[in-house]
Amino acid sequence: MSKHFVPENLPKHLQHYIGGRFVDSAGGETFEVLDPVTNTTYATAASGQQADIDAAVDAAREAFNHGPWPTMKPRARAKVLYAIADAVVAQEDRLAEMETFDTGLPITQARGQAQRAAENFRFFADLIVAQHDNALKVPGSQLNYVNRKPIGVAGLITPWNTPFMLESWKLAPAIASGCTVVLKPAEFTPLSASLWAKIFEEAGLPEGVFNLVNGFGESAGDALVKHPQVPLISFTGESTTGQTIFRNCAESLKGMSMELGGKSPAIVFDDADFDAAIDSTVFGVFSLNGERCTAGSRILVQRGIYDKFVEAYAARAKNIVVGDPHDPATEVGALVHPEHYDKVMSYVEIGKTEGRLVAGGGRPEQLPAGQENGSYVAPTVFVDVAPDARIFQEEIFGPVVAITPFDTEEEALELANNTKYGLAAYVWTNDLKRSHNFAQAVEAGMVWLNSHNVRDLRSPFGGVKSSGLGHEGGYRSIDFYTDQQAVHITLGEVHTPKFGA
Ligand code: NAD
Repeated sequence: MSKHFVPENLPKHLQHYIGGRFVDSAGGETFEVLDPVTNTTYATAASGQQADIDAAVDAAREAFNHGPWPTMKPRARAKVLYAIADAVVAQEDRLAEMETFDTGLPITQARGQAQRAAENFRFFADLIVAQHDNALKVPGSQLNYVNRKPIGVAGLITPWNTPFMLESWKLAPAIASGCTVVLKPAEFTPLSASLWAKIFEEAGLPEGVFNLVNGFGESAGDALVKHPQVPLISFTGESTTGQTIFRNCAESLKGMSMELGGKSPAIVFDDADFDAAIDSTVFGVFSLNGERCTAGSRILVQRGIYDKFVEAYAARAKNIVVGDPHDPATEVGALVHPEHYDKVMSYVEIGKTEGRLVAGGGRPEQLPAGQENGSYVAPTVFVDVAPDARIFQEEIFGPVVAITPFDTEEEALELANNTKYGLAAYVWTNDLKRSHNFAQAVEAGMVWLNSHNVRDLRSPFGGVKSSGLGHEGGYRSIDFYTDQQAVHITLGEVHTPKFGA
């Protein structure tokens, strides 16, 4: 293996894609994009400003008002969506290489992303074909029906963890619904988003339906959020960014869907299948480099198995293969960017004052040759962590976990609910009653019993408390991107008071 794998024909410059054309920023602004294993610049990207967002929204608005897409029959739209899915799968190897190169995600975990992205397009294609809406009869007087219509230009703002797949979560339902879109991908990882334009063009998506503007949140993202011709914003990112966007959307009362941060608990009771719980809780926090919104990053373990659990968990964490993201043997790669690395490392230092360190605690002892400056962090485990510790309360978004003991089910529930977040929860027990009662009481948008995060695209996705606003998934996504207009038809006489008669 070479010291530093670079995908073939890597673009040196990434442009916006507006109205069917690749363009630079009107004012020529650019920013630099780093790879996470050497932290050196590998490309520049056009940096979107107000004028570029205006141009993209104009193109999307034109395609919405005068293009064929919003009024096409669902079956015809679904055919395009299926072609998009096939084109995504055809790019699987290229996408995985690019994603690994740009994000530091291990190649074996990047490989699944194309299939998952493709599945989103197939799923929403099927949904719109099967879609039916209510017709309601008031005998002898009214027939009422729901006229579902796409809302308009949707602004899609996405984060850098599994960027392509998360973009597909928004692109697929927005486009399936007949909206046109402006995507603003994360500035740390713009590479894989550059694949969309060709995929959409070849699949036959009409010009102007998909537009992409690269750039920073404070400039491109902010201009998109505040644009008066954008009635919808779907955002995935940090909770504090979500708060800013929420405030900015208020001005023009936009529709909002927000998938935000998490500090999800994994609760392991004495009676759990011990080996399965270890496998799952290790995977649940260290997969995707720990840069995972639904990571089970607080593990609560019942006292009877606590010492055994801590010992087994630490042994596994120490054994995790950290290395070159392109090496198929790697289990944890490099963190996405030096800024994020600094944040994660600062929590590792905080953790040393708040818990007992039993694995990791800094950079790995051995780094891949030629990658000594890479953003590598050893899988880090703190135990005996108190609930008021910052590493118990705050999202770290890296390979760092806090383990805390509990005695009773009541105490476990109190600990589980004791953060501002409420995205996911994982419950490990073989007691049927307890598992359901606990799942229903825990403050989390999604709960998995005896499993890590395995998704069913039909079910709601999203968090409660500071983890999100509104749930997408299945028909909920279609509901978000469409308006359900009520049309009332009078069949009988209408009693009308004769004012002024
Ligand atoms: P971030 O909030 O820093 O950025 C997300 C996106 O928002 C980026 O494209 C950024 O440019 C943009 N942005 C930033 N400021 C903006 C502003 N003022 N106006 C408009 N756009 C702005 O998040 P991140 O660091 O890229 O991603 C990590 C976070 O995302 C974590 O908190 C993670 O939990 C969360 N996340 C949540 C889910 C979920 O489904 N709940 C999924 C993945 C990631």
